[in-house]
Amino acid sequence: MSLDKSHNAQRTSWVASAQAAGCDFSLQNLPWGRFRRAGSTEPWRIGVAIGDQILDLAAARPVAGWPAALAPQLDALAQGDLAAVIAAPKATRVALRLAISDALATGSPQQAALAGCLVAQAAAEMALPCTIRDYTDFYTGIHHATTVGKLFRPDNPLLPNYKWVPIGYHGRASSIVVSGTPLRRPLGQTRAPTSPADEAPAFGPCQRLDYELELGAIVAQGNALGEPVPITAAEDRLAGLVLLNDWSARDLQAWEYQPLGPFLAKNFGSTLSPWLVTMEALAPYRVPFTRPAGDPQPLPYLDSAANRAAGAIDITLEVWLQTAAMRQRGEAATRLSSSNFRDAYWTLAQLLTHHASNGCNLATGDLLGTGTQSGPEAGQGGSLLELSMGGKQPLALPGGETRSFLADGDTLTLRAFAQQAGGPRVGFGACSGTVLPAPLTA
Ligand code: MN
Repeated sequence: MSLDKSHNAQRTSWVASAQAAGCDFSLQNLPWGRFRRAGSTEPWRIGVAIGDQILDLAAARPVAGWPAALAPQLDALAQGDLAAVIAAPKATRVALRLAISDALATGSPQQAALAGCLVAQAAAEMALPCTIRDYTDFYTGIHHATTVGKLFRPDNPLLPNYKWVPIGYHGRASSIVVSGTPLRRPLGQTRAPTSPADEAPAFGPCQRLDYELELGAIVAQGNALGEPVPITAAEDRLAGLVLLNDWSARDLQAWEYQPLGPFLAKNFGSTLSPWLVTMEALAPYRVPFTRPAGDPQPLPYLDSAANRAAGAIDITLEVWLQTAAMRQRGEAATRLSSSNFRDAYWTLAQLLTHHASNGCNLATGDLLGTGTQSGPEAGQGGSLLELSMGGKQPLALPGGETRSFLADGDTLTLRAFAQQAGGPRVGFGACSGTVLPAPLTA
């Protein structure tokens, strides 16, 4: 992970809001997104978030001063094709980031012309950053796996494969939506674990609707069917990260999950944040990948010197809740928990390499979910299932309400950022959804 002038923490932008305290979109971030004027039916455009603005890359294309070598990528961006750019070789993606950093940096000769190419984020609506072709969800949060395992299997919380295999399942791409899309409470089959074995399950609205605090990695370049990706090549095949809320119906899950794993408890909606934070932007926040003493080291195909030295990433993750009553009273969202992606048991490179190790072909735009990221301490659970101990200990909210699981009208927001003390913030923006009542049953 080499650093260049685009990572220089002293570098500022002529877009003043990029320097505002707590701003997710500093000059050191430069995430990709797809946007259009809110309420319009214009084609989606590619933009880069900077401060509270978006640099419109279609409008910016004719501006003089872009490096000639990047013409093919700039043309593709101007045509709204982000996939063409994230599929480009790593060196090209790095050069593009540098060119955009230079263009937005204080003193840029392009400033006067580019100032007219900014769109206020408040005036834009966002799409998914790219088409998600395929979606796999992993399970790298060992604290989540242990706590949830205890709830489902008190005697056997962490199954023996956990420390050897990056556990995952194939999710569903069709129901992935962008932040801001409402989430309808699902209907489904449930039967309490305490019910007699001959009792029929019920069918109706999910009573234990939950969220999962996850990151999602977007694949930059795939691999041909039958051709694994060595771990030494895996990092360069990742474009970047988004926030992922893997909404989960816990009562449906408990009844359906054996023997084949999650199905209807997970595929009724998954929410992504709209801004793709690139792996290049996260380079300064890489940290060593380590295993606790006594735990097995990864098998050789999941091990490399680079992965050990800097395979993990220091990203603070947060969950915020605003209930309908809080919204009516004009109260801001309250933070339910905070954790850090550096505590994940597997790295992104290990996930990609393991996924392709049997020859499974990944493609540009594939989404690899990290699984729920819970911290080691009590109160750091990345889901309500953990925070409420399976519903047994409801959370007290400011204003007197309590929650074991989500209620209709709740707005759940994930946030994340990487930041060193006093340095610029590389943030993800919001990954948000409001729960709508279940459909009426006949
Ligand atoms: Mn999940």
